[in-house]
Order: sequence, then structure tokens, then C-alpha cells
Amino acid sequence: MMSEVIEEYSNMYIDGQHKGLCKEGKDCDHSANADRVSQMEKSYKNILTELGEDVNREGLLRTPLRAAKAMQFLTKGYNESIKEILNGAIFDENHEEVVIVKDIEMFSLCEHHLVPFFGKAHIAYLPNKKVVGLSKLARIVEVYSRRFQVQERLTKQIASAISEALEPAGVAVVIEAVHMCMVMRGVQKMNASTVTSVMLGSFNEDQDLRREFLSLLKKN
Ligand SMILES: [Zn+2]
Repeated sequence: MMSEVIEEYSNMYIDGQHKGLCKEGKDCDHSANADRVSQMEKSYKNILTELGEDVNREGLLRTPLRAAKAMQFLTKGYNESIKEILNGAIFDENHEEVVIVKDIEMFSLCEHHLVPFFGKAHIAYLPNKKVVGLSKLARIVEVYSRRFQVQERLTKQIASAISEALEPAGVAVVIEAVHMCMVMRGVQKMNASTVTSVMLGSFNEDQDLRREFLSLLKKN
């Protein structure tokens, strides 16, 4: 199931259609990308061979190509910009209550091992005249998580992006994630997660506000 989805998405790069992944109108060069994919395919073939695999056996025949496309999909955040995503989605609004979005699914790749880490992001901000569509907060998480990351930087980037775009009175971002590089080596138990947080503005200065947000995360 998962791999089918990956192929479907990544074919968008190679087929002659836009479907939103390349910037329409700007010189989108599909043949350059086909070259990139074929270089990556060669590299994956090398990796498998060096690991002692027979890349000509049936099950592995298309694996290097699939892996190349999958990797491209999993890092597609490099080709997306926050500015474009938020374009037209920010509104003036005299909303003075904290906005909270909990449990945003997050999938990323650790930049030290190129192995997944995944979990949930929780975002809160205290608006100062500007608000953004709630689904856009999830998109911000996606843009930064579909890159090679460390969890601390990912958390910071999400908070800064919201801070820059909305100039709110405060921003809080908490990420809870399981790192496969630690779980698979036995350094971390499967369901033990790493928690990182960034508190800006009023969430940094106002202890009560911060405590309120953090206690809300504990409730299911
Ligand atoms: Zn790692």
C-alpha cells in the first residue's frame, strides 16, 4: 500500500505532467529530473551490490529505481516553499484566543542515518491580528519534515516559519517522535519517544500560558 502511493507520487516528477509538484510556468525540466533519478538508481544499485546483494535477482530488479523515486518523494520538501504554500491563506482577524492544532502526523528522515523518524507535532500560536487556515499548519510541518532533518531543527524551523508569516504574540511547537535509527539498534524502545519543543514570545514569557498548552497535550 505505502509503496504504491510512493510510486504514484514520484512518477509525477518523471511523467510529462505537472500535477502541482513542479512550479507551473517556471522552466520545469522533466528530462533533467529523469537524469537525476537515473543517477540515483545507479547509486542504489552500487549500495545493494556492496552489501552483497545480487541486483539481478527478480525481487530487486526494479528496486534501485523505486528506491530513487521513493527517496525523492520523501524529500520533496526541498522543492516546496512556505511562502507559496501560505500565499492567500493568511487573514486579518481580531482573534485573541490561542489557536491550537494537536496531533499533526509527521514523517521525516534523520540526516545522520537516512532512516525515518516519525510522530506527532503540536502547534499553538497566540494571534496578533493575523491567522492562517488550520490545514496550512500541517502543510508547514510537512514541508520541513520531508527533508533530511534532526528533530530539534525541524521543531525550530516550524516555529520560525509561523512566527515570520503571522507575527503572532507567541508560538509553541512540540514534536514527539520515534527514531528508527535508535529503535532498530536497540538504543531506544519502540514506544519511547523523543520530545522537543520551541516556545517563542508569550509562550516563552508567560509560564501559565505555556503550562496550559503543555497540559492540554497530555489529554487525549
Ligand atoms: Zn539517526
